[in-house]
Amino acid sequence: MDYLFDPPAVVSLPIAARGGRFPVHRVYCVGRNYEDHAKEMGFTGREPPFFFLKPADALLVVPEGETGRMAYPTLTRDLHHEIELVVAIGKGGDSIRPEHAMEHVWGYAVGLDMTRRDLQSDMKKQGRPWCIGKAFEQSAPVGPVTPIAEAQDVLSAEIALSVNGADRQRSTTAKLIWSVAETIAHLSNAWTLQPGDLIFTGTPEGVGAVSRGDTLVGRVAGLPSLRVQIV
Ligand code: MN
Repeated sequence: MDYLFDPPAVVSLPIAARGGRFPVHRVYCVGRNYEDHAKEMGFTGREPPFFFLKPADALLVVPEGETGRMAYPTLTRDLHHEIELVVAIGKGGDSIRPEHAMEHVWGYAVGLDMTRRDLQSDMKKQGRPWCIGKAFEQSAPVGPVTPIAEAQDVLSAEIALSVNGADRQRSTTAKLIWSVAETIAHLSNAWTLQPGDLIFTGTPEGVGAVSRGDTLVGRVAGLPSLRVQIV
């Protein structure tokens, strides 16, 4: 092909245990999907799901057993962690009904929806898009994908994040306001889901700031944990 310059490389995640790679298409994120997090952000937790996207090349892919190195981003003084269960879509579709939604799930991973909270708050106040707060370089650290058949019951699993060994976030994925199936149904009414799409399903309460030098360890019981250092 006569491209003017080299096209970008395909972004992909390692597949836990089996080997091989999961090629990534889009990265969807769900806002305020745990009631106690919605409340800490000043909302009631009783609203329809809403979505934003991050570019696939904003993923910071962290292989199992390794520590990802995330550069502290520009423009912010309030970089926040949000630990999230990530759904990996294996079969695309649109207008998917909730009762069929789980047939579209290939696997799960642990991810961080890193957020320039000060910029996001400014954009919210002005009624402007969140992109600058959410969709920056390395804003989505993520671990390997575990195939659904080999994952434990991640839909009712402890989800937790520690910073430098201290507990920051701890909840259960059973508290998702919109379940994985409902989220897929809603998303697929707005966009055509494709194999390779990732869905960051939202974070529980306890979000907070991190600094250079901090080490974050994110866990969803039954999946490989995610370790990231801010540099
Ligand atoms: Mn989030």
